[in-house]
Amino acid sequence: MKTLSFLLAALLCICPPVCGTRPAAAAPAARTDAGERVIYLTFDDGPTDSTTPKALDILREFGVKATFFVIGRQIRGREEILRRTAAEGHAIGIHTYTHDYAAIYRSREALLEDIGRCRDAIRSVLPRYSRKIYRFPGGSFLCPDLRAAVKAAGYRYYDWNASAGDAEGSYSAEQLFENAVRSAQNKDSVLLLLHDGVGYRQTLRALPKIIGYFQNEGYRFKTL
Ligand SMILES: [Zn+2]
Repeated sequence: MKTLSFLLAALLCICPPVCGTRPAAAAPAARTDAGERVIYLTFDDGPTDSTTPKALDILREFGVKATFFVIGRQIRGREEILRRTAAEGHAIGIHTYTHDYAAIYRSREALLEDIGRCRDAIRSVLPRYSRKIYRFPGGSFLCPDLRAAVKAAGYRYYDWNASAGDAEGSYSAEQLFENAVRSAQNKDSVLLLLHDGVGYRQTLRALPKIIGYFQNEGYRFKTL
């Protein structure tokens, strides 16, 4: 009995340090070892004359690619911006034709029609466009009942797990950067929400710092 107690005590003595070191050792290892860290920059609500080309300039300067979820009705007159986006290796996704919540979320049919119109608008400029990647305006949580319809129509939708908050208030570039970093914390796969609609000047100002931060942290930039 005494021997058993001693053995148990000895085991308990050995065990805590062994187990105890594991989380501490695992945390830095997860950051620096083979486990790849990935970030997907995603821009909603373009193309726009004022924001999209500047975002493209910054992305080119840093040599990183992003995904642009576009608004179909904004493409007319901005065909060159859309062509440039594709030509520079960015992914183009379907966001909406009208971005009118009341209209598109009225019914399954209304939503699929809106998605189809957006896709047609993209294809009118990029005839070989065959992607079926989609982002619900406002996020799929606004209308979870419609997720199945989108999937059944062959689309893959993407929400986000990090955000600069640039559509949620009037933040400074510094605050947008901090929002992006904070919301991405402890995530090895970051899907970051940004906007390239009209008036997103602070997003443009924050973008170099956001990219620089994730590059320094060892993230690989990928497109959807
Ligand atoms: Zn949007």
